[in-house]
Amino acid sequence: MAELISYNPADGAPVGAVPITPAEAVPAIVARARAAQPAWAALGPAGRRDALKGAAARMIEAAESAGRQLTLEMGKPLAEGVGEIRWTGRALLDELDEMVEAFTPERVADRHTRSTLHYDPLGVCAAITPWNFPFSMPHWMVLPALMAGNTVVLKPSEETPLTGQAYADLLGADLPDGVLQVVHGADAQGKALVAADVDLVAFTGSRAVGRQIMAAAAGRLTRLILELGGKDPLVVLADADLEAAARFAARNSFRNAGQVCVSTERIYVPEPLADRFVDLLVAETGKLKVGPGTEDGVRVGPMVNARQRAHVLAQLEAAEAAGAVRRCGGEPGDGAFLAPAVLDRVDHSMDIAREETFGPVACVIRVADEDEAVRLANDTPYGLGAIVFGDEARAEAVADRLRAGMIGINRGVGGAQGTPWVGARQSGFGYHKGTAGHRQFAQVRVVSRAIPRGER
Ligand code: NAD
Repeated sequence: MAELISYNPADGAPVGAVPITPAEAVPAIVARARAAQPAWAALGPAGRRDALKGAAARMIEAAESAGRQLTLEMGKPLAEGVGEIRWTGRALLDELDEMVEAFTPERVADRHTRSTLHYDPLGVCAAITPWNFPFSMPHWMVLPALMAGNTVVLKPSEETPLTGQAYADLLGADLPDGVLQVVHGADAQGKALVAADVDLVAFTGSRAVGRQIMAAAAGRLTRLILELGGKDPLVVLADADLEAAARFAARNSFRNAGQVCVSTERIYVPEPLADRFVDLLVAETGKLKVGPGTEDGVRVGPMVNARQRAHVLAQLEAAEAAGAVRRCGGEPGDGAFLAPAVLDRVDHSMDIAREETFGPVACVIRVADEDEAVRLANDTPYGLGAIVFGDEARAEAVADRLRAGMIGINRGVGGAQGTPWVGARQSGFGYHKGTAGHRQFAQVRVVSRAIPRGER
């Protein structure tokens, strides 16, 4: 059987391999999932929680070894790789309880009618996931899908098949056969899964592939949850704490080598503050140690592969040719390394200001005022996250004018416990977390009857 080999982006060495699933085998895998679904659904939310709860301890115990494998596979610093798995394990029991509640029937009544809202399984769910958070991205989709009573076929990214497999092994050790299966491969396997007899496709990945999946799903009107890319702006207001803003920008532009869907990719700074801000940002960037994720103290690892780096380099070159000024970084190293770059005097007409970079580049765009910042920040097809730094009341007023699903004020975009992870516009539809997020994996069924006159 052909193998999918996973390579270490720090040095090109093979990390391991999995058997590729022939695309022709996908319909039979989906049929197996369908056969397993009624018995899984019959367990009810509490029964399903019991079948999944053992995964919490397994994940925590495996965090060191599986986290090391994650880092070798895609490059992020070891503490972040281990943390991704440990935190998934630590949060699991609470998530299961939250999901039991979300999928338990609810009563709603008015004067005349008593209704029960049931949250039924949809059937078979396909989960197609990216490589940048190769453990937690599958988890965000697979767990609510299973807890809703669906069976799941997961296709992890071809860049991180070992971590995808580790996730399924750790989560699924106590599950009945056919409840959680993995398909390994690239776009051919993803396409086969979307074309198969599935009831829901939950996808996290690029806008381009999201568009292909939506077109392919149209024929069968398959339900979709699409979490797509971003081009997140950071708006620095005239009264912002510039040092804090620069510290945040360096962290949020270069974390995971800039390969986070909510990475800060564009920074709008009032012209009078721009020289100082750029100096601060360059100084903060200089503090970040670049190297293999397994090395002590490294904050920025390699990019996931040379192809993704070539895309970033092409955007950088085009921007410089059009007048942007590179203040630091941008030099390719061995493996898939790219030194974190700060690009000043970026113009909104440049590709790098409008299309997702997904690499370690922070672009500074000098603006005349707040209105110009808001107008430019909103002028991309994306709308995932946005950040505003400045006096809180003013920043909140600016947040009301930004078209994004999640906005952070003087901090990152992550919301309080129970709030969803959500994109606006072409950053996708469907979202994760919180009761409403979980319920997207279920079919709502409303059963109603009249309230007898005497009981009204
Ligand atoms: P990608 O779109 O290239 O691939 C994602 C997955 O889709 C992979 O498993 C891939 O094999 C599969 N695939 C490719 N073509 C397919 C097709 N035609 N049909 C079905 N499946 C197909 O994305 P990537 O490079 O793995 O991940 C990076 C992207 O993910 C970035 O755009 C990033 O912003 C986005 N992302 C978004 C979020 C979010 O929450 N919105 C989170 C993480 C990543």
